[in-house]
Amino acid sequence: MKKTPLENWIIKRTGITPENPDALKSYQLEKVLEALCYAKDNSRFYQKQLESIDPRQIKSWEQFEQLPLTRAEDIKNNPFDFLCVPQSQIARIVTLNTSGTSGPKKRIFFTEADLQKTVDFFDYGMRSLIDNTDRVMVLLPGQAYGTIGDLLKKALDRTGTVCVVYGLLNDLEAVEKTMIENEINCIVGIPIQVLYLSRSKAASFKHIEKVLLSTDYVPQALVIELNRKFGCQVFNHYGMTEMGYGGGVECQALNGYHLREGDLYFEIVDPCSGKAVADGVTGEIVFTTFNRQAMPLIRYRTGDIGAFSVDACQCGSFLRTMKKVSGRLKNRIQLAGDVTFDLKELEEILLADEDLIDYQVTIKDDQTLLIEVSLYQYETSKAKEAQLQRCIETHFLKNHGEVMQIEVKRSPLQKPDQLVNSMVKRKIRDWRKESSSE
Ligand SMILES: [Zn+2]
Repeated sequence: MKKTPLENWIIKRTGITPENPDALKSYQLEKVLEALCYAKDNSRFYQKQLESIDPRQIKSWEQFEQLPLTRAEDIKNNPFDFLCVPQSQIARIVTLNTSGTSGPKKRIFFTEADLQKTVDFFDYGMRSLIDNTDRVMVLLPGQAYGTIGDLLKKALDRTGTVCVVYGLLNDLEAVEKTMIENEINCIVGIPIQVLYLSRSKAASFKHIEKVLLSTDYVPQALVIELNRKFGCQVFNHYGMTEMGYGGGVECQALNGYHLREGDLYFEIVDPCSGKAVADGVTGEIVFTTFNRQAMPLIRYRTGDIGAFSVDACQCGSFLRTMKKVSGRLKNRIQLAGDVTFDLKELEEILLADEDLIDYQVTIKDDQTLLIEVSLYQYETSKAKEAQLQRCIETHFLKNHGEVMQIEVKRSPLQKPDQLVNSMVKRKIRDWRKESSSE
């Protein structure tokens, strides 16, 4: 098994040696403290947030872990307060429409140097699954300068690897044509879109040997299906725009991500207390950027649920591994009778059904879930709806000891680029909150 290429990359970029892996943590502490000073000196937000703290007095991780966390709302409320450089030096602004409603939006800024760091990470990260004999198609936005597809193309150009950036899946026929004409054997894309492509164009998908899934956590049902039907190796990438798109990527052990440790420092914290948890324990993923010019982030809460692995990776790297992200805190829902369930549980049931294209889960009230599904086969959809309903009712009874009222309804088939769950991070709609806030 090939060792993760991130190991060599991190050694090169940080100057540490593999004989002394602990040096990585010392390097990161030094860099994180530099980032703290830089953020406090240059951003209005951190001037306030770290008002009573002298970053130059921080000497240890224990002290660092006392610092306040940064929330997504902080960026939403005033993104410009995070800026550390004049606006003339900004090469790319990403506006994230996270809630889908009007109101403040998250904006993330990058300088040219910030974007180049991402290209560097993508270059080495992609080597986990490909070499320059592979032919890659990217189903992510890539038209504009500094978009994820654009940066990925620049990364693969460095090694002379063929890379066709198609953009988001909007037309199955056109994507199939691109795959055939370019003899594609590797696809990078969004989980639900790649699944849809594989189910709709199975004959062409047979040539795909490797898949890298990105932008949202990946249901296991999807990995199993691609593996079983096409013999694909399915790699997960973990990242978000705030990290500079990229955060970590699986090695050939396919058992969790190695992280972008030369640019980012990751922690797992208890989401209620904010305190660090032990390795192996599940909590919220928090990260700190270093060497970031436009918009450094200190202890930023991702809202993602994860854990560090306690075992060394099978690939033989000294780098630690983060287990695959197992969902989002926002998709963990409390219902009547103290039942807490996770969207992921339902997804594993829904996505395992090969007739399903898309779905939307809505909490109607404390006892009722509405699940709207789009299916390929209209003729059998009535029977399918009843079957899904039974499966999910049984799941709740078995796993939570509660009887839930489940309504499964068919929703009209959408075009691929209009799939509810494909472009944004998948989420549950909660009518209880919508009615109380209106
Ligand atoms: Zn590994």
